[in-house]
Amino acid sequence: MVEGRLSRYIAVAAVFLILGVCMGLALAPAPGGSVDRDTLFLVSTIDALLQGVYDGSMTFDELAMYGDFGIGCGDRLDGELIGIDGEWYLIRVDGRAYPVAGNEKTPFAAATFFDPDIVIAADSPMNLTVLQDRVQAELPSENLFHAIRVDGTFPHVVTRSVPAQERPYPRLASVTANQTVFTLENVTGTAVGFWTPALAKGVNVPGYHLHFITSDRTAGGHVLDMALAGGTVQVDITANFTMTLPPGGDFWTVDLSGDLSGELEAVE
Ligand code: ZN
Repeated sequence: MVEGRLSRYIAVAAVFLILGVCMGLALAPAPGGSVDRDTLFLVSTIDALLQGVYDGSMTFDELAMYGDFGIGCGDRLDGELIGIDGEWYLIRVDGRAYPVAGNEKTPFAAATFFDPDIVIAADSPMNLTVLQDRVQAELPSENLFHAIRVDGTFPHVVTRSVPAQERPYPRLASVTANQTVFTLENVTGTAVGFWTPALAKGVNVPGYHLHFITSDRTAGGHVLDMALAGGTVQVDITANFTMTLPPGGDFWTVDLSGDLSGELEAVE
């Protein structure tokens, strides 16, 4: 009797142990590693992208291990990437949102697990500048990374996307000079992105960088302008920062010693 109960306990404990190991494996980004939900995870650097390092270096399946939220771009610049609630989409140059293929790669992306620390009710209409100033006033420190999510109704959102590039790759500024611009009118949806501190200049885009997707997940892009009628802004204070650099390819030889902030301004 006692022995039977004991073996049942052992069996139950074994099941939990196996479950725990499986879940641990599913969440672990690397052997021996564990996921920190307050880490901004960055693939490559913005200065490499500015200079035409467009070949993807990390699959979307791998990226998803580091976050359920984020932005970036597709392989060879094929689309603007947005990750929201664990679903990842590329908004291609036709303005439509396509679920990513997990085995395709991104050349540049930022991701985190989104757990809001600050919630701001946006109960009056705001243009993008007013919205950004309002959020900036709520940031505990401009020297930390923050993930930002804006859900709401938008009288207009102006977005852009760019087409896939062919070798020899032009610099990003020449690609965005011919970008396709979309004006989405009277839409509900979500802007997803980051506040990046100035200390990450050259590595990521300092200040705000937002992408947008409609609530029916059909359209969006890199945000150039928007007006918010009303909604909610959520901010996730993200104190930790990890980056992975491409394990080969053009990244190894690109010159990253210069100051490209002027070129970045033209692109954003
Ligand atoms: Zn963008």
